[in-house]
Amino acid sequence: MDIDEKSHNEEYEQCLELVRVRILNKGKDELRDEIKRKEKTILRYFRPTWDQYFMKIADIARRRSNCMKASVGAVIVNDENRVVSTGYNGTPKQIPSCYKMGCERCNKN
Ligand SMILES: [Zn+2]
Repeated sequence: MDIDEKSHNEEYEQCLELVRVRILNKGKDELRDEIKRKEKTILRYFRPTWDQYFMKIADIARRRSNCMKASVGAVIVNDENRVVSTGYNGTPKQIPSCYKMGCERCNKN
């Protein structure tokens, strides 16, 4: 075994440690059966719950905040799990952003 092959095998072994769901492709029918058998596991790892989904959206919205002291994101959802709106905190449109000293909260201390 040469060095490249050895390092490739080590990397492969390290990848296997990170694997959550392992599906071997042994042909079309076997693959379909394997996926069907592991469907719940696959969904559990890869498909977020509604709450997880909405919290991720709120987290992304939060990152749009221009306040240096507080960044808050929000998602408004209806009773059919449809996103109605998203938002985040920051200075009003007419006021300079926190980075330009427009935020009272950031300027207090
Ligand atoms: Zn601020």
